[in-house]
Amino acid sequence: MSLQKKIGSVQFELASEDLIRKLSVAEIKDPTTYSDDGYPVVGGLMDPRLGVIDPGIKCKICNGRMSECLGHIGHIELIRPVVHIGYAKEIFRILELTCRKCGKLKFTEDEKKKFKEAVDNNKDLAMKIESEVKKRNEESCRHCGEEPMKIKFVKPYSYYYLVGKEEEYPILITDIEEWLKKIKDEDMEYLRIRVRPENMILRALPVMSILSRPSITLESSTRSEDDLTHKLVDILRINERIKATIDSGAPQIIIEDLWNLLQYHVATYFDNELSGVPPARHRSGRPLKTICQRLKGKEGRFRNNLSGKRVNFSARTVISPDPNIDIDELGVPELIAKEMSVPERANEYNIEILRKYILNGGNYPGASKIVTGDGKSKRILEINKEELAKGLNAGDLVERHIMNGDIVIFNRQPSLHIVSMMCHKVRIMKGRTFRINPAVCAPYNADFDGDEMNMHVCQSEEAVVEEEVLMKINQHIISPRYGGPIIGGRHDHVSGTYLLSNKEKISRETALQITGGIVELPEEKADFTGKEIFSLLLPKDINVAYVNKFNEKIIIEDGKLKEGSIDAESMAGELIMELFNKYGADAAADFINKSTRMAIRVLEIYGLTLGIDSTDMKGDAVQKINNLLDEAENKIAEYIIQKEKGELKPIVGKSLEDALEDYIMIELSKARDKCGKIAASSLVDTTPIIMAKTGARGSLLNVTQMSATVGQQAVRGKRIKRGYIDRTLSSFKRHDFSPSACGFVRSSFKDGISPTEYFFHAMGGRETLVDTAIRTGRSGYLQRRLINSLLDLKVDENRAVRDSGGNIIQFLYGEDGVDVSRKTLLYKKEKDVFEWFS
Ligand SMILES: [Mg+2]
Ligand SMILES: [Zn+2]
Ligand SMILES: [Zn+2]
Repeated sequence: MSLQKKIGSVQFELASEDLIRKLSVAEIKDPTTYSDDGYPVVGGLMDPRLGVIDPGIKCKICNGRMSECLGHIGHIELIRPVVHIGYAKEIFRILELTCRKCGKLKFTEDEKKKFKEAVDNNKDLAMKIESEVKKRNEESCRHCGEEPMKIKFVKPYSYYYLVGKEEEYPILITDIEEWLKKIKDEDMEYLRIRVRPENMILRALPVMSILSRPSITLESSTRSEDDLTHKLVDILRINERIKATIDSGAPQIIIEDLWNLLQYHVATYFDNELSGVPPARHRSGRPLKTICQRLKGKEGRFRNNLSGKRVNFSARTVISPDPNIDIDELGVPELIAKEMSVPERANEYNIEILRKYILNGGNYPGASKIVTGDGKSKRILEINKEELAKGLNAGDLVERHIMNGDIVIFNRQPSLHIVSMMCHKVRIMKGRTFRINPAVCAPYNADFDGDEMNMHVCQSEEAVVEEEVLMKINQHIISPRYGGPIIGGRHDHVSGTYLLSNKEKISRETALQITGGIVELPEEKADFTGKEIFSLLLPKDINVAYVNKFNEKIIIEDGKLKEGSIDAESMAGELIMELFNKYGADAAADFINKSTRMAIRVLEIYGLTLGIDSTDMKGDAVQKINNLLDEAENKIAEYIIQKEKGELKPIVGKSLEDALEDYIMIELSKARDKCGKIAASSLVDTTPIIMAKTGARGSLLNVTQMSATVGQQAVRGKRIKRGYIDRTLSSFKRHDFSPSACGFVRSSFKDGISPTEYFFHAMGGRETLVDTAIRTGRSGYLQRRLINSLLDLKVDENRAVRDSGGNIIQFLYGEDGVDVSRKTLLYKKEKDVFEWFS
């Protein structure tokens, strides 16, 4: 039995210069990397002792071969010490708390006692004591009597003594080092450090192994070195120069200049994005990527290489719509299908077809690899394909191209939703884009203005089963966010079914065109109503009644649409819910597939179109709207006069200015609503109204803005007041509060808007643009934080949510155990549910 030990805690320390020298396998002195004959220079930055990166060579230090030797560190002896950039601020804090002559604490005994008590359990108090000690700078040292000096820290790594008001003297790093060395071990706890502070000053600089900064040989056989190597070359060069300068007896000031340069290079070796100094650059002008830049941020080691990785069996391209494929299908270009593979095990039923794939090789449908029963894998090539096909046995695995019916996961970023990743069935198609049914745009939040999406191919039977159960599109018709349908007929699908359900008489010929290949028409009938044709899509025994967007009653009795016109409430609402809950996910999906296809046929036959003349109004509507707006403007002018005279009726809790603003806004929005009503009732062409009311596209506000008036533009929820002194634009007089001077766009989009109106509209429009940009950034960050904090939670077998330590987070998932996307099922069986819980 082996002895088991549990690690109680891990503590990190700062390496001292002696430790660095002890760990180092080579002192690096030579700034040249390779000699003229191409071998690495011993004592240079590519010293072979630092690790093995060539196959066939053994490491002199650990005797390991290429992938066995993990590399070893070397070190550079710095001629003059420099500040470790990660501790520059910490050093400043320590200097402020100690005496510069004897290194003893500035704390009084009383403060020490209080601080010790507070440091572990009352951080705020401890920090307060500390800042009081720092502030008390006038007193001389109570241990050695030394007069104190005020210290100034200049980012990123300079320290000064302040003398008098304006004079400053730089403090040499060697002096700081001496100072820190004087600090006693027992005083360290009052300084809140666990490591010797002089280790924050570097005299020996560790040099990373060459495994972490390998050189790349380009095609032209020229060598290109890693950024870190470049940086180390700079450090070595400046180090040599300082040495030479000291040896030549140059004046102190020149040495100090070079010393500062060494500090700069060592600091940027750690972090090349320091504020206060320019980043070190490559010859080409590109900033160097040094240690911090390798680790930090989205493209750094943590977020790019550890939290997420590149994957195989995935593809990405632009998406485009295809209403003729099912919602659970995905059109995959042949080009992609040829690159993706699925392992299929040969058996007596599929062996012949698999042989055919092997013979096809790289041609579609082909295969790329064979794994035989004894675990040997062979690539299928032009020269060996016939031999491999002949030698194929039952039990061998063939990695064949993906084909119709294979299961894949489809995804669109940002994947904020469970329904951002769903499982589709492959359907190979011509072209270069992924094709999806437009009814599944909503869950992915996709459109076709250039959106790209990702496909992941399942690699095992287990994965296929899991995906089909958990991720299938049909199972996600109901949104887990609000419990209503998120997949359904939208836009043209709604217009189409609306037209259909309102058609009084459809000849058999036309009916065949609408239903052909979708549903079968009853033999005996010659003429149909639209409702009859729509009813063909419904299950024979369905009974529902609900209210549509027009507030009309929709009655479906025994699978027949009796009353009401079909709109978005049916195509992506109540009807889908009823189908999903009563007849199952596949029935709902089937209805969506068929009804949307039919809707498009209806539109092809009857048409629904909208043009510039669809915004024309009949009769005296234009005059009425003008009068209404005049009236409103007059009333507002009256309010303004009242306010100037001080006769305006005040509003409780508001200043007179704000009250006036309120009155104006109320008046203007009232006017716009009235204008909208007039416009909606007097349009010559009702298409825009139908589209808005059925929920197909647009709203009555859009109609109003097109035909009547665009209305008040707002920035930060208020009328526009900013711009020039006491006015918004130079086109107006000062102190003009009238609607037109504060962002009211009186014209309609069709009439065209005036230059000042255009300007105001652009201001309002810009605000929404900026808002969306900021919102996406913020939600991305929020998502990241949520993922990091929730990633180890899971629902256990008792339906409680636990973290990785087994601690209960919720006794019941979501505190009620309800899956929102299935909640209507629960409510219908409310009684059972309560019995189940009790
Ligand atoms: Mg888009
Ligand atoms: Zn080694
Ligand atoms: Zn002292």
